[in-house]
Amino acid sequence: MIWKRVSKRIRLIRLKRSYSMAELAALFKVHIRTVQVWHKDGMKPGDESVRPLLFQGYEVRRYLKNRVRSGRCRLANDEFKCPRCRRTTKSRDADITFKITGLRMGKSDQQVIVKGICIVCGCRLTRFETTNSIKKLFWWPKFQEAHKELYGSPESSLETDLKEEKKQNEH
Ligand SMILES: [Zn+2]
Repeated sequence: MIWKRVSKRIRLIRLKRSYSMAELAALFKVHIRTVQVWHKDGMKPGDESVRPLLFQGYEVRRYLKNRVRSGRCRLANDEFKCPRCRRTTKSRDADITFKITGLRMGKSDQQVIVKGICIVCGCRLTRFETTNSIKKLFWWPKFQEAHKELYGSPESSLETDLKEEKKQNEH
């Protein structure tokens, strides 16, 4: 796993220096394509129009710390890390809840805490996401339903289909 190595090396990044993609790849010992993915995923260069792209140290740290903390590097889109089982686990859909904390994560993004209950040990589970990142997750329709005020009306046919499917599963 690259993320163990990456998270250990974040502290090597100097906040006030700027880094090219090649330098970041060398520093984290990852493929340059991995750094390109980070860029696409939201690590912002000082100037998007200047080549080679240069990334300020504080931005590299912000992006990577956020990514490591969110657990997105390890977890599938419906998984949690269980603190008791010490492995990835899932929660029953009915036990999933969301909390928008009000903490801003950039211009148009806010922190969301997803909570669930471990299907193995019954322990409480927490996963950190944002109002944007949650769109890629399994719980997005449920989240959207719970926060209509943020997103307007969801695509109702999809919602209905999911509900129907769930009902059938419960019977
Ligand atoms: Zn557990």
